[in-house]
Amino acid sequence: MAESSPIEWTDATWNPVAGCSIASSGCTNCYAMRMAARLEAMGVAKYDGLTRKSGGRAKWTGAVRCDEASLSIPHRWRNPRKVFVNSMSDLFHPEVPIAFIKRVWDVMAETPRHDYQLLTKRPDRMREVLSEDAFRVLPNVWVGTSVEGPEVVGRIDHLRATPAAVRFISFEPLIGPIQDVSLKGIAWAIVGGESGPGARAMQEEWVWEIERLCRRFDTAFFFKQWGEVNKKVSGRLLGGRTYDEMPAYISV
Ligand code: SF4
Repeated sequence: MAESSPIEWTDATWNPVAGCSIASSGCTNCYAMRMAARLEAMGVAKYDGLTRKSGGRAKWTGAVRCDEASLSIPHRWRNPRKVFVNSMSDLFHPEVPIAFIKRVWDVMAETPRHDYQLLTKRPDRMREVLSEDAFRVLPNVWVGTSVEGPEVVGRIDHLRATPAAVRFISFEPLIGPIQDVSLKGIAWAIVGGESGPGARAMQEEWVWEIERLCRRFDTAFFFKQWGEVNKKVSGRLLGGRTYDEMPAYISV
């Protein structure tokens, strides 16, 4: 779970934490929840007991596991890469101790050749933790939050108030319109529809609204995918072209 990633906007995933719990409606079809159940069934101890079966589907138990052994992984990657931190959890989940977040932070400080992408659905805690003196701003750490619909746009204010070199928003899975929000101070926006079983459709107008916001606030715009049930068929063209913009700052 730590090597190259098929996710369009990163190169690799690194999971020093495993396990999570539902934070909002964007979590309903959480890929990590399904994947954790599969890994447990394959006998991977790191995912043992993190999910249970309910109504024939895997559900998080709420248990969160900090994986000491994975802390050394980025040191072993010689070539610079963009690293998505915790694709199988949320680093700012309330059960992750601040002392462990600090150890993750230290690894990122010790490996400046990599750019790290931290994405959370709990930007209020991220803001609180990263405002502490022990967490100096690192130029190679991008911090982001997920905004799947209008009921969670308040996350953007917490993100904007988080000390960081680069701030970004993942509008994925986009399940509702985002209108009249400020992207001031936000360097990068990713937009994507939901994929996999039970996927909720994304309307094209919602995507264009975010694209217009990006132009207005000088935010790089990355269109990841239409999603729905089969993402390979629905593709990632928007208006006949791809949008793969990245933040202005990039060291990789
Ligand atoms: S915060 Fe992320 S990992 Fe946790 S349940 Fe939601 S989508 Fe899944």
